Amino acid sequence: MADTMRHAFVCGHPVAHSRSPLIHGFWLDKYGIAGSYEKLDIAPADIARFVTELPASRYAGGNVTIPHKEAAFAAVARRDEAAEIIGAVNTLWIEDGRAVGGNTDAYGYAASLDAATPDWRGVTSATVLGAGGAARAVVHALAQAGVADIRIVNRTILRARELADRFRGGTSAHGWDALPDLLPGTGLLVNTTPLGMKGASGSDVDVAALPDSAIVSDIVYVPLETPLLAAARQRGLASVDGLGMLLHQAVAGFARWFDVVPDVSAELRARIVADLEGAH
Ligand code: NAP
Repeated sequence: MADTMRHAFVCGHPVAHSRSPLIHGFWLDKYGIAGSYEKLDIAPADIARFVTELPASRYAGGNVTIPHKEAAFAAVARRDEAAEIIGAVNTLWIEDGRAVGGNTDAYGYAASLDAATPDWRGVTSATVLGAGGAARAVVHALAQAGVADIRIVNRTILRARELADRFRGGTSAHGWDALPDLLPGTGLLVNTTPLGMKGASGSDVDVAALPDSAIVSDIVYVPLETPLLAAARQRGLASVDGLGMLLHQAVAGFARWFDVVPDVSAELRARIVADLEGAH
């Protein structure tokens, strides 16, 4: 019998930790769609072939997670503009019989700020902690939103320079020791490093040095309230956790594979928060 269901996946190595099946499973149930969203553990040696053979598979597409985002970028036949700029692919779909790759992390980050604190669109200066893959998406989101002064702060300054150089004008690179000078003029502070993750130490950023109007966001979401966000809240600053980015980045893929633009609702958020709390 022909399979009339649509199928999608998240592929990574390992992939057991991924919350994407919970998010997409919630939406499949909510919209009554006959489909599946599966976890696929793909070894690094197999990812390029997996991507090129996607059009002949049973899948409409899927998500790509660590460590395959760059390999997927290289393997697809075409990429969307965000993936080209960020240099990584987190979403795959099929067009004209070929695998196409996109990156929805920058959209997800901006959408999470829009939902939590729409005033961020007036920010003119941002300080980004970290210069890895996630920072590339965050800096792209900030540049697209017209943030004029984006300061990238990283332990390895060479990586901060490389990231700043990907974007023309408006970006600058700094070492961690520049923070005391940068924080007083910061409208939006973003942590994109794993500092503050469960089991890791916090970033010891002095939030007292930030202006009263500053917004503090952390893309780490385990725990939901990182030490940085707790310090910002205690100082009375607007703070945005990393779960919104995870939820909003999932919207575009679901829409492509299942033809429904899903809602990032309070109910979905509560479902994922319950899972995060249950797991830790
Ligand atoms: P990555 O490419 O490995 O980059 C990690 C960055 O953190 C680098 O800039 C690294 O600095 C810095 N770093 C790591 N350990 C550090 C330490 N002890 N002290 C100071 N800096 C340190 O990782 P990524 O893919 O960008 O991911 C970063 C974080 O974002 C992870 O926690 C991930 O879970 C989270 N994330 C969240 C979302 C979401 O949807 N909310 C999406 C993507 C990622 P060096 O260059 O000096 O090594």
